[in-house]
Amino acid sequence: MSDRDLSDHKQPDAPGAPPVGSSDGDLDLCLHTLIAAWSQRTPDAVAVLYDGHGLSYRELNDRADSLAGRLRQQGVGIGSLVGIAMKRSPDMIVGLLAILKAGGAYVPIDPRLPHERLQFLVSDAHLGVVLTNRRGLAAGDALVIDMDQATREMRNDDRSGSCPEGATVENGDLAYVIYTSGSTGQPKGVMVPHRGVVNWLVWMRNTFEVTSADVVLKKAPLTFDVSAWELFLPLISGARLVLADSDRQHDPAYLAALMAETRVSIAQFVPSLMRSFLEQPELPDLSALRHVMCGGEVLSSTLQSLFFKRLTAEVCNSYGPTECSIGVTRWPCRRDDTRHSVPIGYAIDNTELYILGPDLNPVPPGAAGELFIGGICVGRGYLNRPDLTAETFLPNPFNTAGEARMYRTGDRCRFLPDGSIDFLGRIDDQVKVRGVRIELGEVEKHIQAHDAVEAAAATVDDADGEAVLVAYVIPTAGSALTERDLRSFLRRKLPLAMIPSSFYFVEALPLSANGKVDRKRLKLLRPAVHTVMEPRDNLEWRLCAIWRTVLKDPEIGIQDDFFDSGGDSLLAMNLVLRVESAFKIKVTLDQVLDHFTVEEFA
Ligand code: AMP
Repeated sequence: MSDRDLSDHKQPDAPGAPPVGSSDGDLDLCLHTLIAAWSQRTPDAVAVLYDGHGLSYRELNDRADSLAGRLRQQGVGIGSLVGIAMKRSPDMIVGLLAILKAGGAYVPIDPRLPHERLQFLVSDAHLGVVLTNRRGLAAGDALVIDMDQATREMRNDDRSGSCPEGATVENGDLAYVIYTSGSTGQPKGVMVPHRGVVNWLVWMRNTFEVTSADVVLKKAPLTFDVSAWELFLPLISGARLVLADSDRQHDPAYLAALMAETRVSIAQFVPSLMRSFLEQPELPDLSALRHVMCGGEVLSSTLQSLFFKRLTAEVCNSYGPTECSIGVTRWPCRRDDTRHSVPIGYAIDNTELYILGPDLNPVPPGAAGELFIGGICVGRGYLNRPDLTAETFLPNPFNTAGEARMYRTGDRCRFLPDGSIDFLGRIDDQVKVRGVRIELGEVEKHIQAHDAVEAAAATVDDADGEAVLVAYVIPTAGSALTERDLRSFLRRKLPLAMIPSSFYFVEALPLSANGKVDRKRLKLLRPAVHTVMEPRDNLEWRLCAIWRTVLKDPEIGIQDDFFDSGGDSLLAMNLVLRVESAFKIKVTLDQVLDHFTVEEFA
């Protein structure tokens, strides 16, 4: 596709093409069917744009058909789960679409996961095939398809574009299985059929009047379910999907520049990233941006005000758990709103929301209770976990149609007088750190698995308005356990986002009356001694200055662990960018992850 095509922002509309995207009949269709319709209607329009290169709707569809054929030859069919462990690229979109066309459901796997966790996912989901563009990815018994090679082969294959017949996929079939943190110590796979995702997408398309002239940014990792709307909303609307580079998806300056350059009109942010995005001293011309969806964690009224101060777009607070197809509520934020909290709003189409007491009866109007979700969006449950599924996906007594179920969210909410819903917090130990859903119990189980740990408790602290994960650990008697031991032990087991930023070694954990750890009193255990090791040469001085700026801590010494000092993956990326710019060299995120003190990094 030529650069001229790319500069033509408005997608062409083919006269006389089949009407797609307008009727509620779409609710009965599958994601890939809705997308394939555009390859007939506007085959030459840019579907995916990445790093200056475009992929047209026709190319996307042909390549996906070709790969789907290959997947079918490998035995992929209705109900098969196929892993996808890829950095973001047009091939990733081809891979996702091919999996759906073959009748399978995709299982996103972060290619950077520690080996042990990756193996767990492959075996827990019984994955027969994994698509990847990461060299040397080991996926146990699963067949690994190298997407770079597959793409080259497809280009040389004259028959590409032919889609062999298979059983017809229905919209009650699974579209994806996303793993989310599990309190029992291992993640659990949430099974989500096409129909709930299509319901959300059609609702979004109608509500925000998405057309082929829109440009939607994709930057959330595939393991976060909002990524599904970022990528499918434009593709079911004949619009343009812009892919952010996986390594820079947390870099606000990069995102802003990309959005300005590609004239993004619709984007999604979790509040933590939205804050760093809006706090940039300079923002480029983002006049094309007309709608922002914010969700995944609490949107504060301060952040809402900052949004309206910096941008002219509309912003909407949206709420939804992975278990219920992306989102279930919508609150259009108002510029003149002076309230102290931003509601999560009202139910979207074909969705029912109930606020119930412990007896599963509705609480009185305005009273707090647990939020339950019913309707088309309710997922199928947890993969191979009938026990857990039965605990959280209950028969819906308020809707007697068929076998209606409702999902128990664990979120405390209340109805406001205008019928909108106010989010009040969790009733359990699930937390959100930079938009990532974490069960504290899972973090604790992994820390406790270390031989030199007798007991551990994890919690979140507020650091400058951001939630950070911290852990309190009782080492076994006589052990010489260090933070570094613990951190490198956890790095072999957990994704980076689930590794606490700080560890405190303590002699006992505070208990509440019922014998459980009293998380609220953990903070009181914190010691406050810290010796700063100053840099010894020019290189260390320069690096240390960068460490200190990024961590906003002038006390960082050369032996202080980046992650122990409040660093996380987002800040690590920031560090990489600053080191690159100061030293005019190429630095990878892995180099920071492997050398986490100034001394080692130097
Ligand atoms: P996830 O499954 O990762 O989407 O996380 C779902 C959980 O994130 C919900 O159960 C809530 O606790 C929280 N959450 C999602 N969206 C919001 C929001 N807009 N405001 C407050 N909490 C939210």
